[in-house]
Amino acid sequence: MTRALFVVSECAPLVKTGGLADVAGALPLALDAEGVAVRVLLPGYRAVLAQFGKSKTVAQYKDLFGSPAKLQSGSIDGLELLILDAPHLYDRDGAIYGDASGIDWPDNPERFAALCKVAALIASEGVDGWTPDIVHGHDWQAGLTPEYMQALNVKAPFVFTIHNIAFHGNADARKLDTLELDPARFTSEHFEFWGKISALKAGLAGACKINTVSQTYAEELLTPDFGIGMDGILRARHADFSGIVNGIDLDAWNPTTDPNISPYKTAAGKSVNKKALCEIFGLRKAKGPLCVLVSRLTEQKGIDLLLEALPALLSRDGQLALLGSGDPKLEIALLEAADQHENLSVKVGYDEALSHKMMAGGDAILVPSRFEPCGLTQLYGLRYGTLPLVALTGGLADTVINASPAAMAAGVATGVQFSPINAQSLANAFARTCDLFDNPKTWKGMQRNAMKHPVGWETSAATYKAMYLAALETHL
Ligand code: ADP
Repeated sequence: MTRALFVVSECAPLVKTGGLADVAGALPLALDAEGVAVRVLLPGYRAVLAQFGKSKTVAQYKDLFGSPAKLQSGSIDGLELLILDAPHLYDRDGAIYGDASGIDWPDNPERFAALCKVAALIASEGVDGWTPDIVHGHDWQAGLTPEYMQALNVKAPFVFTIHNIAFHGNADARKLDTLELDPARFTSEHFEFWGKISALKAGLAGACKINTVSQTYAEELLTPDFGIGMDGILRARHADFSGIVNGIDLDAWNPTTDPNISPYKTAAGKSVNKKALCEIFGLRKAKGPLCVLVSRLTEQKGIDLLLEALPALLSRDGQLALLGSGDPKLEIALLEAADQHENLSVKVGYDEALSHKMMAGGDAILVPSRFEPCGLTQLYGLRYGTLPLVALTGGLADTVINASPAAMAAGVATGVQFSPINAQSLANAFARTCDLFDNPKTWKGMQRNAMKHPVGWETSAATYKAMYLAALETHL
């Protein structure tokens, strides 16, 4: 077995704010089937330690950025975990990246540098008789790992996955000392980015192989519009950079066994779930499709476009049930719009069980993102016969087959894509979706295609393994 250490800031089912957690929770199990034994190094946030029952202390650190810390090992749902118990960094009220009002914790650079430093120590000294062959970091929170590995002269290669390039993890240059970084490496080849320390750049510069979570997003990231300052380094690292599309956990998202819903007996199982969902959202029976959307509410997710284009859905007696939280301005705009339209119902909050009910009860799942590295909700939608209506970008381009005349003629369409990404084009897509929905035979055919579309991890896990092996080979 190849041994890999994941370095990651969230991991389902323990702690989740977005798709990163789903990947960190599901990919290790898929890799195990490929002959890769993964241990996941995760910060010991208060909520994580509370759920983490039986564990043993496998390492102690006298002074980890100012106070003592220890490493706990244990497992949950088949995942092998190493939890960094550092109360001065992680034991606090509020959310994992910021306080209750959404402001980032000012010591985030130290909080995640500590995670990276411990990853390097594990790779250097091993822990509990286990030493990784390869270290796999995810997003900026793991980006400084290769800097600490280099300082400790670790031989194992580091690979890096970009789940979202929009977050750079920048820190003021005055933190070089506090973060125990080598000032000689504060240059544009390593981790200096416009005068700041960039954890993301450190990861990109220090990784032996880099990937992101879909092929189209990988191509997009090489352009200034999408690469937002990191396109140059990605172009320079082009030979080592690839796209590997995310999968989903087929057990957690299984419409025939899902404990959160009325499990589907047949594809028609949707109707009972639709009725239940309408009750939850206070929506009446309507003629048009019931669209659902489950998302962080940010500019990235195109919620403003949705509000502008919505009349095109509502005018056809279509409906929208929306669950999300995030930007307070978007939350208020959505709640105000819901007050005005009986066919729009909005729940502000985060609710995992409800998100399953929405996949089961909806006719179509909306993902109108301006950019989307992979996107997971359209994959859940495919599995539950909830047809994706998505922007043509990133992973949304790679995982949905648009109902074009050619795809309809070939009988392979699974959803509707729109481009360019603006309100008018989304409105047109609503009209196309309503037309398709008006023809039950067509719609059912697309649902069958969607439910057959492969959305598991098998192929991608094998590709990750191949990336590890290539990294190990070039690193010899
Ligand atoms: P991102 O990582 O950019 O947030 P993804 O589509 O990759 O977007 O993943 C989002 C994940 O978070 C999905 O599993 C989705 O179901 C979940 N999610 C987002 N918002 C909510 C919410 N308000 N309630 C429940 N689940 C949510």
